[in-house]
Amino acid sequence: MISKKVAKLINQQIAIEAESAAIYLAMATWAEHNAFRGTASFMFKQAEEERIHMHKFIHFLAEVGEHAQIDGMKAPKASYKDIQEVFEASLAHERQVTAAINNMMTVARAENDYAVTSFLKWFIDEQVEEEAVAQQALDIVKMAGKVSLYLADKEIGAMKGGK
Ligand code: MG
Repeated sequence: MISKKVAKLINQQIAIEAESAAIYLAMATWAEHNAFRGTASFMFKQAEEERIHMHKFIHFLAEVGEHAQIDGMKAPKASYKDIQEVFEASLAHERQVTAAINNMMTVARAENDYAVTSFLKWFIDEQVEEEAVAQQALDIVKMAGKVSLYLADKEIGAMKGGK
């Protein structure tokens, strides 16, 4: 038995995890279509992870005697300007997920719901990792952008100037 207030938030979180999976699947699809195969593979894996998170919340509700609700959701963003926008969106999304999980923890603690508090600890730790991974991927993309500028600068340096 868990508090109704917390059960409602967990149901909302199930929708957030489903939405996360859809967002990453759409990013993977965009990346594959635009020949960013590494990013596509990364995002397909992220989408799978989000489905596992969703299942964890569903099973937890079942274990405490609650019936999880599966809602419909809006279509995820399908197109991106470039690869940097993909990873900026991914980091921004993970920060929103962290805020939602932190809010659940705040409510569970206020309700003295120890089972939920204990269960959520894994997600608190997971979000530290998710944000770090998203930040690292964004840093790599930004770094790669600088590498091509560096190569361009070298080539300009090797050019014969006009007279
Ligand atoms: Mg997640």
